[in-house]
Amino acid sequence: MNIPKKIRVEGIDFSVLILSNEQMNSLKKDDESEKGVLCGITDFEETKILINNAYCESMREQTFWHELIHIIDSRMNPLTEEQIDNLARRLNAIFKDNPKLFKD
Ligand SMILES: [Zn+2]
Repeated sequence: MNIPKKIRVEGIDFSVLILSNEQMNSLKKDDESEKGVLCGITDFEETKILINNAYCESMREQTFWHELIHIIDSRMNPLTEEQIDNLARRLNAIFKDNPKLFKD
C-alpha cells in the first residue's frame, strides 16, 4: 500500500508524516513515557497523522489504518485501543487482498 502524504476524511484534510522513532518518542506525553514504542498519533488540532518509521511497511500500513479509525471513531462512540487494532488489522488485510480497491 502506498501510504498517502495527505488524506481527506469527511471533508477534513489530514497530513500524513512518517517520523523517526526519536521524533515519535519526543511527542510522548509524560504519562506515556513508561509505555512501549509509540506506533502512531493523530493530532486532531493540527490535522496530522504521525507514523513511526521504526517498524516494517506492513506495521506502518496497519498503524495508518489504526489512526484513520481513530479519526472516524472521534465522531462516534469511543472504541478501545484493542478494538481499533482489530479493525485496523482486518481492514489492512482486505486492502492487501484487493490491491486495486482504491485505484481509479
Ligand atoms: Zn490508538
